[in-house]
Amino acid sequence: MAAGIAIGLHGGCGTLDPGLLSEAEWEESRAHMAKALRAGWQVLKAGGSALDAVQASVVVMEDSPHFNAGHGAALTENAQHELDASIMDGASLAAGAVCTVRRIRNPVLAARAVLDSGQAVLLSGPAADDFAQSRGLAMVDPAYFTTQRRVDALRSLQARAATGAFVPASEAEKHGTVGAVARDMQGHLAAATSTGGFNNKPSGRVGDSPIIGAGTYAKDGVCAVSCTGQGEIFIRRVAAYDLAARISYAHQTLAAAADALVFDTLASHSIGAGLIALGASGEPVAPYNTLGMYRGWISTDGQLTVATHRALHAMGPA
Ligand code: ASP
Repeated sequence: MAAGIAIGLHGGCGTLDPGLLSEAEWEESRAHMAKALRAGWQVLKAGGSALDAVQASVVVMEDSPHFNAGHGAALTENAQHELDASIMDGASLAAGAVCTVRRIRNPVLAARAVLDSGQAVLLSGPAADDFAQSRGLAMVDPAYFTTQRRVDALRSLQARAATGAFVPASEAEKHGTVGAVARDMQGHLAAATSTGGFNNKPSGRVGDSPIIGAGTYAKDGVCAVSCTGQGEIFIRRVAAYDLAARISYAHQTLAAAADALVFDTLASHSIGAGLIALGASGEPVAPYNTLGMYRGWISTDGQLTVATHRALHAMGPA
């Protein structure tokens, strides 16, 4: 059944104006994606599960300041962090998620702990923080998540709102998310997603990332997918599950299903949207309808590729 191991990830889509970061910063963001992919790949190569692999990759992305998850997460309208994450096992359809958490260093680990507990799929707010603490996960002061980039973005968004000047926020100011998908030696699939949501979001707002079927979905023999873009639309479109349903019921190929979802269904709401997905045999797709999307994969041939804009950076063997 198993043709090979594979892993893919995204770090959010958006305008990604090339002038947004220095060349050294773009380079570093690509290096962090490569590191995250290799972390998952090591798990898969050692015979570990797709579930452990996506978790390992997302932890590295959460620890990087370049992405809107964990350290570097977006701020709410009250300049607080409220983080969402989820993880799903395509073999059993077991899933775990947390939302609006504030003190868990790596929210994806809390999502995994919820999955492992088998008692719930989604825990929220302070109770989810307490649950993670009781499971022995690393807890931090919320200031750990804050970076100057997010503070500046929040200030500029709020200053523009106060003057009434309608200047739409760039996707980079607003959005971003990280996610990973993997296929292991047994042919099992898994997906995980983690996010700070978007800058200046209302306090208490929950996006698609922790909603199974909206921002994250995995089912063996079908696909594993993690989404990025304005979560409200992904929830209303049940986007991640829609991808799986197109493949299962409409017998679309992964590539056709992903393109239809991103370029027709989601784009019809005039939102930036993107996703990373693997098909049943580990083939990656990473469509996005914005100027760029942080993304990368190690395909079944062991070659590592990362990209931020159209150009792909082939990094050679993993
Ligand atoms: N989907 C995320 C959310 O709405 C944000 C993003 O991916 O840009 O919370």
